[in-house]
Amino acid sequence: MAKYTPMIEQYLEIKQQAQDAFLFFRLGDFYEMFFEDALKASRELEITLTGREGGGDEKIPMCGVPYHSAESYIQRLIEKGYKVAICEQLEDPAVTKGMVKRGIVRVVTPGTIMEGKNVADKSNNYLVCVTETDRMMSLAACDLTTGELYVTSMPASVEWLRDEIGIYEPAEVIGDPKMLDLIKAEQLQWSRPVVYTSWEKREEQTVRAQFGESAWARLDPERQACVAVLISYLSETQRRSLGQLTQISPYEPGHYMILDPFTRRNLELVETVRDRSKKGSLLWLLDRTETSMGARLLRRWIDKPLLHRGPIEERLEAVEHLYNQFILREDLRAALKDIYDLERLVARIAFGNANGRDLNALKLSLAQIPSLKELCASSASSTLRKLAAEMDECRDLYEAIDAAIVDDPPVSVRDGGLIKPGYHDHLDELREASVNGKRWIAELEAKEREATGIRSLKVGFNKVFGYYIEVTKSNLGTLPEGRYERKQTLANAERFVTPELKEKEGLILEAQDKMVDLEYSLFSGLRDRLSAEIPRLQALAEKVAVTDVYQSLAAVSAEQGFVKPKLTEGYDLVVENGRHPVVEAVMKDASFIANGTRLTREEAAILLITGPNMAGKSTYMRQVALISIMAQIGCFVPAKAAEIPLVDRIFTRIGAADDLIGGQSTFMVEMADIQVMTEKATPRSLIIIDELGRGTSTSEGMAIAQAVIEYVHDTIGCKALVSTHFHELAHLEDSLQSLRNYSMAVQESGDKVHFLRKLIAGPAGSSYGIYCARLAGLPSSIIGRAYTLLQGLEESAAQTAAAAEATKAEPPVQLRERADAGEWERSLTDTEAGHAEPAVGAPVQEPASG
Ligand code: ADP
Repeated sequence: MAKYTPMIEQYLEIKQQAQDAFLFFRLGDFYEMFFEDALKASRELEITLTGREGGGDEKIPMCGVPYHSAESYIQRLIEKGYKVAICEQLEDPAVTKGMVKRGIVRVVTPGTIMEGKNVADKSNNYLVCVTETDRMMSLAACDLTTGELYVTSMPASVEWLRDEIGIYEPAEVIGDPKMLDLIKAEQLQWSRPVVYTSWEKREEQTVRAQFGESAWARLDPERQACVAVLISYLSETQRRSLGQLTQISPYEPGHYMILDPFTRRNLELVETVRDRSKKGSLLWLLDRTETSMGARLLRRWIDKPLLHRGPIEERLEAVEHLYNQFILREDLRAALKDIYDLERLVARIAFGNANGRDLNALKLSLAQIPSLKELCASSASSTLRKLAAEMDECRDLYEAIDAAIVDDPPVSVRDGGLIKPGYHDHLDELREASVNGKRWIAELEAKEREATGIRSLKVGFNKVFGYYIEVTKSNLGTLPEGRYERKQTLANAERFVTPELKEKEGLILEAQDKMVDLEYSLFSGLRDRLSAEIPRLQALAEKVAVTDVYQSLAAVSAEQGFVKPKLTEGYDLVVENGRHPVVEAVMKDASFIANGTRLTREEAAILLITGPNMAGKSTYMRQVALISIMAQIGCFVPAKAAEIPLVDRIFTRIGAADDLIGGQSTFMVEMADIQVMTEKATPRSLIIIDELGRGTSTSEGMAIAQAVIEYVHDTIGCKALVSTHFHELAHLEDSLQSLRNYSMAVQESGDKVHFLRKLIAGPAGSSYGIYCARLAGLPSSIIGRAYTLLQGLEESAAQTAAAAEATKAEPPVQLRERADAGEWERSLTDTEAGHAEPAVGAPVQEPASG
């Protein structure tokens, strides 16, 4: 077997430690890749593949990227969902005999990258860790770019885990292989590739050292385990201190409204269904934040509406105050506008890649804090005053940066030009020496011209020879012999030096080297000092973000004419003249038609809404859900008045064309959602089902729709809005006490259907489908025949309904069991055995009879 060269052997040994990553192997000014990595990287990065003799029988495939532009190549690989292990030379090749030592200094992964496209200003880049211990599932989410670290847990439930992960939209998920499989099976529709890494190692000690014993002790054991796995992965990949992670934020899932990924998508909370863009989402509408921190926090608030009145009222109090105080709001915005992304600046400081410009950005941000604080402190809002009291101006840090860093520092921190004069005595001395030397040289030209009478004599500098005096060939004759030492001959000039010039040059260059080193060390010293204050800066960042979100919610509420919702612990949801905030905001020529909502125990908890397509049913139902969510994040709501009970969970089932995921039919998806709903909904939940029972045969769909509605009514007892095109279901109003029929009003005039977008009591007329067919110009024979058939169907539906009513005495629990496939089959057999079956049984027989 061929033996590789020592370098390739070294490469192979290191590659062992990074099998799931590209190994960027530092060779001089390049990072090289070999073997499989080279083949793949050359394709992915479109760089030239070459070969290298490595002692083997054949050349080894190789490709490489220059080290100074490696960052962009790394980012491209990360965006494609790969990992990159960076292997550096750990010794100086210039002073090392034999082969230099090399080792991996960092593994960059999608969940741990600090820069690039994945790290957009207004969104987070999360690494999520999932673990299961003692029948508890835990989730820890960390954003290295902002220093956030959350952890939570629940008795094992895959749905819960799916919902929670959906909120973070992580770039990378690590943890138990078993848990990763569960998540993959959920087929979440991620908006970007997500990387899964099995990782089970734990590092308790590191966690305790990093966050302190008391923080550790406050965590439940399963959360401790989860954080320990996460931190173990971070220390393995980052191999450096992670000073931006200063605190663990545990939270209880029960403190927030639960929104599953489908519901979040359907309601277009943070992105639209159609093109997954922020524009057109609730987040887009509500985002008037001035800072990136505020924008990210707003998104977190929308992702996690609150469930307790106290904290919601606190938010509403601040929003109300700012709503009424236009000038204060504008002043706050002006102060916030000049605040940079403190969280990310702090993370860069901790990570060690902050430069002079970053420190100045921090300084300029800190300069805004006194006025921000003053504005909040002098306001009449107790929430804002409390925020102000908690704002640490960090004046000392402002002054430290201001004293040290020049106003317009260069990007590089290793080339000098960063530190202000007067900051450090020795630096000033060196500068003085350098300036004096340069002045002497500048004066030399005039002096020598005078002395020699050569008017074209020049003093210049080049990198190889240093400073020189240049005399053109034509003037050499007049140059006194022996005045200068000859150094270099050019085509039409000679270059000379003098001992004195060389001496000054030595001084200047030495001073320059020393200055650059000294500046770097002064800069690092300052950066370290700031590193030690990270918890203060992070706490400040949070206050700034909260202030920003308040002004944002207030600004939108005032502009869009929203009102303060009245939150209650009760059941009834009453909205007067509600609107869909986003549809209203994007409407150009027409005006939005407001509709009220009364979902009460006394009158109706379920509204069954009928009406033709495009009448406005789904807009209306979403509007009610959005109003609830907005109220519970602490925002005003689009209505004339609103009384909102705290909703623990919103379920939506909204048929959309893009439901075809993983080969499942729309109908199967619908049923799976309904199954979760039957299991999880409580009387405090809100259910929204659009077009219930679509996607299967008419009678089956209608039967299932009826059974589901009955279940929601009898067993769950929560508020629900259900739209259906089965207007036959209108009869349910007779049998279900809490259900009322509503419809979207439509006006016909001549050949036209005019949508009034007004919700009215009572079911819709039945023939809009056929009416539309007529409008479309179908032959009158078809239209006539359709009307006849419709009549027949309606008559038989009425009979079925009567039969269903007669059998409805059955306890609802059995109905629920039948959703389970096994039970379903059993009920079919029962039917065949001649048992009287309710509506559920009847349609099952249909395929046989049809
Ligand atoms: P449906 O669910 O009944 O098919 P949609 O809710 O999708 O109807 O509404 C269709 C369109 O009508 C929406 O895209 C929207 O532009 C408009 N619309 C809906 N409700 C209203 C309203 N209350 N006021 C004005 N326009 C509305």
